Amino acid sequence: MAKVEFKNIKKSYDDVEVVKHFDFTVNDGEFVVFLGPSGCGKSTTLRMLAGLESITAGEIFVGDKLMNKIDAKDRDLAMVFQSYALYPHMTVYENIAFALKLKGMPKDQIDTEVRKAAKMLELDPLLARKPKELSGGQRQRVAMGRAMVRTPKVFLFDEPLSNLDAKLRGTMREEIKQLHRELQTTTIYVTHDQIEAMTLADRIVILKDGYVAQVGTPTEVFQQPANKFVAQFIGNPSMNMLDAQLVGEEGNWHVELGDTRIPLPERFHAHASKNLALHFGVRPTDIHLRAEQVDHDRVLPFPVKIKDKELLGASILLKTEIAGQSLMVETQAAEVDVNELTLYLDLDAIHLFDAMSEKSLATF
Ligand code: ADP
Ligand code: MG
Repeated sequence: MAKVEFKNIKKSYDDVEVVKHFDFTVNDGEFVVFLGPSGCGKSTTLRMLAGLESITAGEIFVGDKLMNKIDAKDRDLAMVFQSYALYPHMTVYENIAFALKLKGMPKDQIDTEVRKAAKMLELDPLLARKPKELSGGQRQRVAMGRAMVRTPKVFLFDEPLSNLDAKLRGTMREEIKQLHRELQTTTIYVTHDQIEAMTLADRIVILKDGYVAQVGTPTEVFQQPANKFVAQFIGNPSMNMLDAQLVGEEGNWHVELGDTRIPLPERFHAHASKNLALHFGVRPTDIHLRAEQVDHDRVLPFPVKIKDKELLGASILLKTEIAGQSLMVETQAAEVDVNELTLYLDLDAIHLFDAMSEKSLATF
């Protein structure tokens, strides 16, 4: 086990910078997820650590050891990919044993290691099968078994569950989490799926266009998004984002949203300035049908027009409009028959972003 330090890492292909400035330390034993949309530089960053991609600038350390010039095979890291890349002509047993055999480990010791991994991954009944006789989830488990037996300093996962159906992804997520609890190996896990990130990570690094948009625990990035991008990337359905303006003066600030005026909560005061153009963010689940659902000193009535509704299963998604802008509301209520309605906002759950910089106005 070891910590992993990325020190001002950059990566360019020709003159295009795809990783712009990556400075981050993964603590010993930590489970960190790199999360971001396709093309933001997640795999490139991971592959530089693995030694599969050259490093344009900066340094990467695993423990106290500088990795930059060390061969991929000598880095003591184990990587699991989306495409499992199992050897098709080998059995499950042989696939898991392969790396140990290459190391020259004695046969009886290999046998012990393979059976121990197979037991943890519930692969013991399948050891004699070939990859083509396995389901997608079983193949993914074999790939993890191969990584495990090498007892690496760090586990690297690159979108390992993307090829699996939704139900199996859920099961495999649980297994990966359980495995980390048992082995406590430092893990870096790359995904574009925010649910995977939220359920697996100790900390999430959210990437955008080669930049770090925010680092935080799942709760932090959900409750205290540092910018508009993170606010809308995390959470499903996505956070509403409406154009608004800050009006008033010191001691009497309001957010103006059409005819609605919202007194500016304390946490935004430090960055308030007159006539500031804002993006006003609120999650569909933080808008309520009844005032009693919010503490009375934080509740704000909010008149909307109902445009449409969509049954999500357990809840309903109301498509509403305020000041000509659309606002989604997720509610448990069975029926809403009117065209106009007063909804209730929880002032603790609103987010404000400077329209220019897109940074949060809040000081937490
Ligand atoms: P992610 O894993 O987040 O989807 P990648 O790290 O694979 O993104 O890619 C980041 C960016 O670098 C993308 O714009 C991609 O097109 C570009 N890129 C990746 N590999 C190469 C390459 N070998 N040559 C040129 N550009 C590349
Ligand atoms: Mg990728």
